[in-house]
Amino acid sequence: MTSKVRFVLTIGLLAILYFAYKGSHESKVQDVDSAIEANTFVDPVKDEVELEEPKEKTEELQEEQEDPQEQQEDAQQTEQNSIEEQTGQEDQKEIEPEPVAEEEPITKEEAPKIETEDQRKIIYLTFDDGPNAVTEKILDILKEYDAKGTFFMLEPAMRNHPETLKRIVKENHGVGLHGVTHDVKAFYRTEHAALDEMQTCQQTLKELTGVESYLVRTPYGSMPYFKQTFRALFDQYNFKLWDWNVDSRDWASTGDEYVKRVISLLEELDSSCTPVVLMHDREGTVAHLPALMQYLKENHYQTKIIENSTEPYHFKLSQ
Ligand SMILES: [Zn+2]
Repeated sequence: MTSKVRFVLTIGLLAILYFAYKGSHESKVQDVDSAIEANTFVDPVKDEVELEEPKEKTEELQEEQEDPQEQQEDAQQTEQNSIEEQTGQEDQKEIEPEPVAEEEPITKEEAPKIETEDQRKIIYLTFDDGPNAVTEKILDILKEYDAKGTFFMLEPAMRNHPETLKRIVKENHGVGLHGVTHDVKAFYRTEHAALDEMQTCQQTLKELTGVESYLVRTPYGSMPYFKQTFRALFDQYNFKLWDWNVDSRDWASTGDEYVKRVISLLEELDSSCTPVVLMHDREGTVAHLPALMQYLKENHYQTKIIENSTEPYHFKLSQ
């Protein structure tokens, strides 16, 4: 092979390589062009600067606009969860959570709280025949359990223990009237005899504490002596007659039997009926009162006081 031939072959080979390269490059350029046309390819340098910058700004603007909406939605969701949680904790009546009203956030926040309060079991604890030396211990126990009672008191006992009486009022317990004599023959002798006893009791309470009570519990309850004629007269003077539906019989109890009895009666009582528990200011009752209070606490009872405005509970007249 001559040097000339080698030269021509080399040139030829170079030429082939050149065209082969050129063809391949043009094809790639075409691919890039079609990719750009089809918007499937983004030049990593040019497009980022020219296109993505405004896009980022737009996104930021959108985010700023969306933020309050998102926050509102988050707040609504949290509230919804809160309503669901609180409703879920209740094990009594099935109450559907109120639909969330967007315009009234205050109502939305208060609704679950009210539902919770309503669903606790209300109970009235009543203590008769005081005040006396034992009443202070009852007040201590009620205070310890953050509970309230209503005291139906005898007029002479109020005069004998004015400081205890004042403590009952000061600690926001309910106060009611139980008469003067606690004697069946004297109290139920006539309608006006009964009325006189309650009015005397009412005046003494007002004199010693400034409180005007219209709550009355007649000695040994309204049955069988407090007949229609008595009721009619008491109605004229706006007295509210209160009996009970849970008789502890604590006066007959030598140990904690009365607590067991009260618990048993509470469990039997119709759930639509608010329990009114009858107890007395006596040593044996105080001794086991913490056990009863513990039961009430564990079973989600809420003690409330009886007020003049409370719808009264009393025995039905048999005649
Ligand atoms: Zn009594």
